[in-house]
This record gives sequence, structure tokens and C-alpha cells, in this order.
Amino acid sequence: MQNFEPSRRAVMAGAGALATAVTLDLPGFSPAYAQGASVNQAPGFYRYKVGDITLTAINDGFAKRPLEGFVKNAELADVKKAMDGAFLPADALNITFTTLAIQHGGKLTLIDTGNGDSGAPTSGSWMNNFKAAGFDPKDVSTVVFSHFHGDHINGFRTKDGNAVFANAEVMVPAPEWAFWMDDAKMGAAPEAMKGAFAGVRRVFAPIAKDVKQFEAGKEILPGITAIAAPGHTPGHTVFALSSGNGKMMIMSDTTNHPALFVRNPDWSAVFDMDGPQAVTTRRKLLDMVSADKMQVAFYHAPFPATGHIAKDGKGFEMVPVQWSPAI
Ligand SMILES: [Zn+2]
Repeated sequence: MQNFEPSRRAVMAGAGALATAVTLDLPGFSPAYAQGASVNQAPGFYRYKVGDITLTAINDGFAKRPLEGFVKNAELADVKKAMDGAFLPADALNITFTTLAIQHGGKLTLIDTGNGDSGAPTSGSWMNNFKAAGFDPKDVSTVVFSHFHGDHINGFRTKDGNAVFANAEVMVPAPEWAFWMDDAKMGAAPEAMKGAFAGVRRVFAPIAKDVKQFEAGKEILPGITAIAAPGHTPGHTVFALSSGNGKMMIMSDTTNHPALFVRNPDWSAVFDMDGPQAVTTRRKLLDMVSADKMQVAFYHAPFPATGHIAKDGKGFEMVPVQWSPAI
């Protein structure tokens, strides 16, 4: 028995090594952090697997929106009640942004690109987080866009006009391109929407001839199938991922914050261009992923923005994944 007991000296040496490692490796132990010098969290990326595909959720910060007028077809009191029920502030909503980097077959694909340097001051952390996850913009082989709202496309090009992903092929939903690049539609759009049209042109006009348009219902890249999800925008698209036994649905903006719109799928956010159509799409997709117990990712869910959908009364509930290594 005695032979199996470690000596006191070995135990002490082991403890010493552990203490040293902890002190050196954890920034939380530095005096600056202890004194509250930084409000930042660890870099916002989170890896997970779907079959052989590795996904990395990459956070791009948030933008604050007043609650008033945010839900087009609900009373403010009911919206506040939903926020309160989710233990969120009842005056404003922090809308978060989480894109996905997908590693498959030796390629690196992005689904949407965040706000770049064109968003709210509380956004724009995407590139730091992308690099902290070990990626380099020049290694991106494909950028796939779910739709053309600024918070999804602006990261593709800096404000001063430079393309961020120099070697990437760009893939866009055909109906989204048809809508936003139509000069007649831009001319007829209400004043408040003209900026969105101009933003689409800012990002895509310099590469218009090289953009690859895809139709829904097709596998656009190995393991990635585009599914039409209109309503939020005319060409809004979600993506079914499939690899071996692994299946997942990238839900894009099928809902904005789940505490509001997964819980109350009949509500429409102010950004839903066709509210009733967005509701139909939302119910159909939420029904499907809950029945199939499919993992989902939402662009505007709390980071890391992935989980499952459970049916709950007249609505649904998003159940976040448990934090774990990507194995
Ligand atoms: Zn969005």
C-alpha cells in the first residue's frame, strides 16, 4: 500500500506547479483586472461540431434598441412583460450579433459577416474575435449571406471601401439580390429604407459581376442546403447543415431575440419587412426544428446563439446548449 502513496514532497511540487500555471495562464488574476480596469469578457467565439463540420460562433457585440415600437403587432406592456419574464431590462433590448465560421473539407466558409466598422459603437468586435479564434480573413474561401440587412453584410467591406475577405467567393440568395439591386425598387422605397438600399450597393456593387447567386432548395456547398425563409426580407434564407448523423438549422433572422419571438412566434419585429409572411415562416421552421429536435443557431440569440427549440404552450422556448469543448 505504502508504495502507492505519493510522497509529501511530490504532492507539494505538484501543487506548486499547479499554482504557477494558474497564476500565469489566467488574466483574471492580474492586478489590473482585480481593480476593475477592464470590462471586457474573454474573446467571443465558441466552437461546436455537427458531424464532421466544425462551427465557430463569432460574436460582434450588440446594439441597444428602445423597446417602444420594436414589436409591430404587440402592446408595449406585453413586450415588457416578456422581457421581465426572461429577466431582461424592460426599457431597451440589447440585440446581439453572432455569425458562423464553418470548417468543412479543408475550406473556411462564413455565414454573414457582422457590422464591420459601420455599426453601433457597442458592435464591431467581430474581427478581434475571429482572429482570437485562430482565423485569418485571407483564409476565408466562401462568404454566404443569409440576407442583405446591414448588420449581416457590412463586415464584408470597410467604410473606406476595402474588401475584407480578399480571396473569398461570395454567394447570395437570388431573390435577395433581385430585390435590393433593383433600381426601380430603390426608387419606390420609402425614405427610411433608401439607406438600406444604398448600403447593399456600397457592399456589393464593386463585385457585382463575381457574386454567385443561389436558389433555395439546393445544396450550395457540401453539407449546406439553402432553404427559403421569406418575410424578414424577400430573399431571407436559412441553412440546413448535414454531416453524418449531425443535423442543424442555421435560422438566420427567423426570429430576433428568442425571449420575444421564439416565445411569441406571432409577434413581428420592426425589421420584418413582411410581418405576416415572417410569422408564417417562423412558425413553420420552429415547428420543424422542435419536432425534429434539431440543433439551431440564431444570429440574434444570446451568445453563443445555439441551442434547441422546445414547444411550450402557444409558443416555443429556446434551450441553450451546455458549454463544452467541440468534440
Ligand atoms: Zn439581423
